[in-house]
Amino acid sequence: MKCPNCNSKDVGKIGVNQFYCWNCFIEMSVMKGIINTHQVEEDGSLSSLDDLFEEDDRRLSM
Ligand SMILES: [Zn+2]
Repeated sequence: MKCPNCNSKDVGKIGVNQFYCWNCFIEMSVMKGIINTHQVEEDGSLSSLDDLFEEDDRRLSM
């Protein structure tokens, strides 16, 4: 899969339906074929980046 943020293929799997982009350091989770994106803040909390993407961009294509 490709990162919807930077289009990098440098995406690693970190859990069940959870992925991490090593290029732009965002976390992704996949639900029902849609990629949800999160940024890990300095304090360790997650903030959603989904507002930045159209749903088409977030649809999982493999
Ligand atoms: Zn990325």
